[in-house]
Amino acid sequence: SYRKGGYHAVRVGDTFSGGRYIAQRKLGWGQFSTVWLAYDSLTSKYVALKIQKSAPEFAESAIHEIEVVSVLTKNDPDNKKCVIRLLNHFKHTGPNGQHFCMVFEFLGDSILQLIKYNRYKGLPLNRVRAICRCILTTLDYLHTQLGIIHTDLKPENILLVSTINPSNDPNRSKKGPILSKPDGSMNNGGGFVVNAIEKRLKQRARQAVARISARRASLGGFRPVTKGDRCFDGIDFRCKVVDFGNACWANRPNAEEIQTRQYRAPEVILQSGYTYSADMWSFACTAFELATGEMMFAPKPGQSYSEDEDHLALMMEILGKIPRKIAIGGLRSKDYFDRYGDLKRIRRLKHVPLARLLIDKFKFSVNDARDFADFLIPILDFAPEKRPTAEQCLQHPWLNKSSESSVQKLDSEMSKLQIK
Ligand code: ATP
Ligand code: MG
Ligand code: MG
Repeated sequence: SYRKGGYHAVRVGDTFSGGRYIAQRKLGWGQFSTVWLAYDSLTSKYVALKIQKSAPEFAESAIHEIEVVSVLTKNDPDNKKCVIRLLNHFKHTGPNGQHFCMVFEFLGDSILQLIKYNRYKGLPLNRVRAICRCILTTLDYLHTQLGIIHTDLKPENILLVSTINPSNDPNRSKKGPILSKPDGSMNNGGGFVVNAIEKRLKQRARQAVARISARRASLGGFRPVTKGDRCFDGIDFRCKVVDFGNACWANRPNAEEIQTRQYRAPEVILQSGYTYSADMWSFACTAFELATGEMMFAPKPGQSYSEDEDHLALMMEILGKIPRKIAIGGLRSKDYFDRYGDLKRIRRLKHVPLARLLIDKFKFSVNDARDFADFLIPILDFAPEKRPTAEQCLQHPWLNKSSESSVQKLDSEMSKLQIK
C-alpha cells in the first residue's frame, strides 16, 4: 500500500507542517491511514499524527472525519465528554501524493489490547463499569447534543487515557524527544515506563511492584509487569472514543451497511433503517466483551447458510426469538425469514439466556450475572425504539454500584508506590 494513492512512508525523525511535528514512532494503522507519535515542537507536547492515504476517496473521507471531529472538539471545551480531540490538520505532499494529516491528542492502548493483556479472561467488573460510563458519556453527547451516530463502536476504537504521558513524565523529558535522527531508543509512550520506577525506587520497590503485580494478575487483573511495560494507575482510569471516519449525522445517513460485523445491530442486517440506537447495540456487545473477554456474537457462514443468518441465529439463541413483525419488516427479511418469522435455513436454535451463559460459561456469580444481564438485556432489544438511550443507561443501578475489589485495592497500593 506504500504506492501512489496509498500510505505515506514515514521514518523516525521526519518532519511535517513546516518542521513543526517530528515523527517519533508508529502507533498504529488502519485501512485509511498510518498513525505516528509525533513531537510538537511548537507546544513541546506529544501528539498523534494520522496520515491519510492520498487517493481521492481517502482524502474525501479525511475531510469528513475532520468535519466531524472538529464539531466534537468545539462543543466540548472542558474536555469532559470522553471523545478524541482534534488539535490541528494540514496537507502533506510526498512521493505518493498529497495526504490529509490530522493531529490528535495522544492516547494510550485500546481496550482491545487491555482485553488481550488480560488473556481474554475479561476485566474486573468495576473496571468494566468505569469504561462503560465513559462510552455512555460519549454516546449521550453524540446522540442528544450533536445528532451524530458513531456507527463503528468496538473495543479497538476505545483508547485509554493515561494520566502519565511522555510529555509530563519527568524521567522521560530528561531524555527528550527525537528531534532529528533516529536513535532507536524510544520507549513506549502513553504510560508509566517501568524502567523509571526501578531507577527511583531501587531494589525494595522493585520487589514490591513485582509482588503486587503478580498478585494482581492472579486476581484477574493485568499480566505481571515486566521491564519496559506500561503500568496503568488503577482505579480511575478513563478512556476515549476514537475513529470518527464513519460517523454520520442521523438525518443524513451515509451508508446502508454500517458497523463492524460482530457489533452490527439486527436492523442493519435486516435493512429496516437505523438510528442512534444502533450504537447502543454495539455498546452492549462491547460491554459483554469487556466483562467476559469474548465477543458476544462471532458469526461464521456455514454450508447451507450465510454469515448474516448465523448472526441472527446467535442473537436469538441468547435473546429469544425476534418478534415476527420485526423479523419480516426489513428490506432483506425475505432472504432470511419465512412468513412466520422463522429462519429459513437454520431451524434448531439452542436457547441459552444471557444470565445462564454468564454463569455456566464465564463463571460469574449468580448475583453478578443477574445484575449484569439486567443492565444489558434492555439494550439488546430487537426493537430499536425500545432500547434505552445512553442517558437512561447512565442512570442504571448496575453502573452506579461500587464494590471495591481486591484488584482495585492492589491498584491503589501500586499507584501510591509510583507517586513516591
Ligand atoms: P480504520 O481502518 O480502523 O478506520 P483508520 O485508518 O481510520 O483505521 P484509526 O483507527 O483512526 O485509523 O487509527 C489507527 C490506529 O492508530 C488505532 O487503532 C490506534 O492503534 C492508533 N491511534 C489512532 N489514534 C490514536 C491516538 N490519538 N493516540 C494513540 N494511538 C492512536
Ligand atoms: Mg480504527
Ligand atoms: Mg477510521
